[in-house]
Amino acid sequence: MSGLSLVAEPTVRTWRPAAATTGEGRVYLDHAASTPCDPAVIELMREVLDERFANPSSPHTSGKRAADFVRQAREQVAEAVGALPEEIVFTSGATESNNLAILGAAASIEARGIDRRKVVTLPLEHPSVLEPCRRLAERGYETEMAPVRRDGRVDLNALEDCLGENTLLLSIQAANNEIGTIQPLAEAVRTAHERGAAVHCDAAQALGKIPLDPVELDLDMMSLSAHKCYGPKGVGALWLRGGPATTPVAPLFFGGGQEKGLRPGTTNTPAVVGFGEAARLAAKRLEKDSARIARLRDHLETQVRVRVPAAVVNGAQETRLPGLTSLTLPGVDADALIARLREIDLSTASACHTGTPEPSHVLRAIGLTSREAYATLRIALGRTTTREDVEYAARRIGEAVGELRTYPRQSTL
Ligand code: PMP
Repeated sequence: MSGLSLVAEPTVRTWRPAAATTGEGRVYLDHAASTPCDPAVIELMREVLDERFANPSSPHTSGKRAADFVRQAREQVAEAVGALPEEIVFTSGATESNNLAILGAAASIEARGIDRRKVVTLPLEHPSVLEPCRRLAERGYETEMAPVRRDGRVDLNALEDCLGENTLLLSIQAANNEIGTIQPLAEAVRTAHERGAAVHCDAAQALGKIPLDPVELDLDMMSLSAHKCYGPKGVGALWLRGGPATTPVAPLFFGGGQEKGLRPGTTNTPAVVGFGEAARLAAKRLEKDSARIARLRDHLETQVRVRVPAAVVNGAQETRLPGLTSLTLPGVDADALIARLREIDLSTASACHTGTPEPSHVLRAIGLTSREAYATLRIALGRTTTREDVEYAARRIGEAVGELRTYPRQSTL
C-alpha cells in the first residue's frame, strides 16, 4: 500500500464466492454491474471510518489528518489515469460525473454567452449520458446520435457529419457496459476538436480494464466510477483537463466550496479513500488481470459454442473489454434461461435496465432485432473468476438451453 495507512500492508486475502462446483456457493459473473470491493480497499475504508471520521475540511488536527487521506486518494486516482491531482473532482459515481460534464458544460457555455447549442453522443451510451442529453434537447439544444456499426464502434464518417461548428460537446464512452466494445476515441476526439467541440468520455467500464490516458487521448472530460474497479459504490470522479479553470463546467449543486465549488457537500472520506486504493491497485494489476481474464472469456465463449453452436458473440471481437461477452442464443428466452441458472449471477442487459420490458437499447443500436435482444446474455468476468467458474457456467448454460428447447413452454413461465 502506498503512502498513508493506519496498518501494515495487508496480505492479499482472496475474496471469491465459494466454487459453485462444490455446491456451496455461487458463481458471480456480473462484474460489469458491480465488482466486489478488494480486501485491501475494505481494510483501509474500515480504518478511515473508525479513526479518520473528522470532516476533512475542518481546520483542526483531526480534520487535517482526514484531509491527508483525501489528498492521497486524489493523487492515486490521478496517477491511475496519468493525470494531475488538481484535475480530479470527486463525485458520487459515474452517473453524477456524466451529468456534471454534460449539463455543467452547457450551463457554463450559456453563462459565457457562447452560441453552441448542439450535443452529439452515441445511441448505445449509458442512460446517465443519454438522459442529460435528452434534458438539453427539451431546453432547445439539438442533440444527435452518431450511428454505430454492427460491431458497436461509431461510424467515424457519420460522426464527422454530425459534428458542426455549433457543436458544444461530443460525449462518447470508452467501452460499452453491455457488449464491451471499445470506441475509437483518438480519432473521434480529433474530429470533434477540429470542429471546436469539447469531448467528454464516460470511462466507467474502462478504468482498470484497458489502458486509459485522457491526456494522450486529448480528452477534455472523463467520468470514472469506483465500484466497477473493485472499489466502493457511490463514489467516482470527473477528470477535467487542466482542472476546472481550463475546462470550465458550472456546478449542478450549490453549497460549500468542496471540490473547488464544483461538487459541494462534505467529502465522503472513506469512499474516496477506498476509490483511491482501488484505482491504485487496478492500475498496478491491469496488464496481468486483463490478460488472464481475456483468456477466460475466450475459453467461456468456446465452451458455450461447443454446447450451443448457434451462439453469436455480439460487438467487436478484437477491440473489446477483456471480461465481457454478450452472447445471443437464438430461439432462447434469456430471462427464462437466467431463471434456471439460479446459482450463477449473470444478466440479460445492464443492471440499470433490469425490470424494464424494453429490449436493450444497446443491442437495438447495433442492429439486433427485439427477438435477438431478448435471447441475449451478458456475462462479465472479473478478478475473482476462475477457470472452474467459467467451465461450470458454460456447462450449465448448455444444459439450460437444452432444457428450454425441449420444453419451450416453460420459458414463458
Ligand atoms: N456509465 C457506464 C458505462 C456504466 O456502466 C455505469 C454503471 N452501470 C455508469 C455510467 C454509472 O456509474 P455509477 O454506478 O457509478 O453511477
